[in-house]
Amino acid sequence: MGAPESFTASAEVGHYIAGRPVASTSGRRQAVYNPATGRVARQVALGSVDEVHAAVEAAKAAFPAWADTPPIRRARVLNNFLALLNEHKDTLAAMITAEHGKVFTDAQGEVSRGIDIVEFACGVPQLLKGDFTDQVSTGIDNWTLRQPLGVVAGITPFNFPCMVPCWMFPVALACGNSFILKPSERDPSPSLFMAELLRQAGLPDGVFNVVQGDKVVVDALLTHPDVKALSFVGSTPIAQYIYETGAHHGKRVQALGGAKNHMVVMPDADLDQAVDALIGAAYGSAGERCMAISVAVLVGDVADKIVPKLAERAKALKVKNGMELDAEMGPIVTRQALERIEGYIALGVKEGATLVVDGRGHQVPGHEDGFFTGGTLFDHVTPSMRIYKEEIFGPVLACVRAHDFAEAVQLVNEHEFGNGVACYTRDGNIAREFARRIQVGMVGINVPIPVPMAWHGFGGWKKSLFGDTHAYGEEGVRFYTKQKSIMQRWPESTAKGAEFVMPTAK
Ligand code: NAD
Repeated sequence: MGAPESFTASAEVGHYIAGRPVASTSGRRQAVYNPATGRVARQVALGSVDEVHAAVEAAKAAFPAWADTPPIRRARVLNNFLALLNEHKDTLAAMITAEHGKVFTDAQGEVSRGIDIVEFACGVPQLLKGDFTDQVSTGIDNWTLRQPLGVVAGITPFNFPCMVPCWMFPVALACGNSFILKPSERDPSPSLFMAELLRQAGLPDGVFNVVQGDKVVVDALLTHPDVKALSFVGSTPIAQYIYETGAHHGKRVQALGGAKNHMVVMPDADLDQAVDALIGAAYGSAGERCMAISVAVLVGDVADKIVPKLAERAKALKVKNGMELDAEMGPIVTRQALERIEGYIALGVKEGATLVVDGRGHQVPGHEDGFFTGGTLFDHVTPSMRIYKEEIFGPVLACVRAHDFAEAVQLVNEHEFGNGVACYTRDGNIAREFARRIQVGMVGINVPIPVPMAWHGFGGWKKSLFGDTHAYGEEGVRFYTKQKSIMQRWPESTAKGAEFVMPTAK
């Protein structure tokens, strides 16, 4: 099953406003690459302030009728969308691989995790139920309901062009909001494709809109008075900017930022299992996951036992075009990102870490211009080094040695990021203490990438999240709705004249 005509026909990936694809008139555009070949695959429009205003107008016009649509009927549209997503899963996955570079099976996994959230959103009516207290005072009841906010927006990163938008819009739409998505300009096509599927699913025009672009579009959304809430996922400096600017303009904001995820390996752990977990979590998707493991904290004598095994496995990684069936790791998203990652490897050497495996300069036959680097492994990394402190966002694993459990926990807790963390151990008490004491939002016990399921909500701590509510799950529903409390009394009990004193329970 191929992509819809409106997607394939266009050389420039444009916007989707009021239920149809819209070519940009901003005069600004940017190249989109296939990272495996290093060649320009298409262009993406960089929208203007006027184009953002047009999208907000469309979303605003569509909002009242959508908000008034019974929740079960909204959920039915999402159910249709779910069926279409399942039908077109491989098209979407191939689209992701072509613009992002990740291997095809990993892209299929990304779409599946996005589908999880759509499934959750189909059940959102259950979470929109209010509370009711009968007889709070004689003849008076108090009840609450949750209502949508209005026009809400999502700004998403390059590394999950399908899944991260799905953390946002299915829940927002199920709650009765209209939505504007600003995807990453590096891999813009999956969003447009999903917009088309939503239209086919029966979503009314204007309820879901896509505006492609860069900071110009983001700033227009951040300051527009009719945009009531913003969900952001991306790097920490931009997350902080979005949070502060959005709040300054009176908006509700959840802004998820960067990460430096540790995996603590205790001496009693199943070390073969820990090696498998580290290799997959550090090098899967070329380390371009916010839940990738980038630091291995090896406790006691673990380092001497597993660093040679990690080195052997890192050297043997099958790094190639993500569309090849046996590929384990694809290219990096852009040449600039590749240069940044290889720059960090040079820095690590300068800082005195031991470079055990050097992935730099990796060549893939037939793809000489692709943005490839191999898996890199450092040992003897220390907390004062920049390669420990900063997010590299590439296939670079740093091994840090710790004497004992307490030192390992302290290391994790003192790091400025707190997105994900894992602990490998066979000791139930160590595992329990770890889960309780660690200052990180998402914890894996013998699970390397503990991305919460759709109904649990996703979010880190510290500089990995600005805001109060996590993405999706019940917290997502709370974020996209506001509570109203109603105190009601019917006329039979009110014919007693006006009351001038503070009402108290009678
Ligand atoms: P990014 O911060 O560069 O971009 C994210 C979005 O912000 C994009 O849509 C981009 O167009 C926009 N943007 C970029 N610069 C901007 C500016 N100056 N002003 C306004 N908007 C701007 O992030 P990225 O490189 O696309 O994605 C990788 C980052 O995202 C990593 O730091 C990763 O850890 C993080 N991430 C975090 C999570 C999480 O859940 N915490 C999930 C995925 C990715």
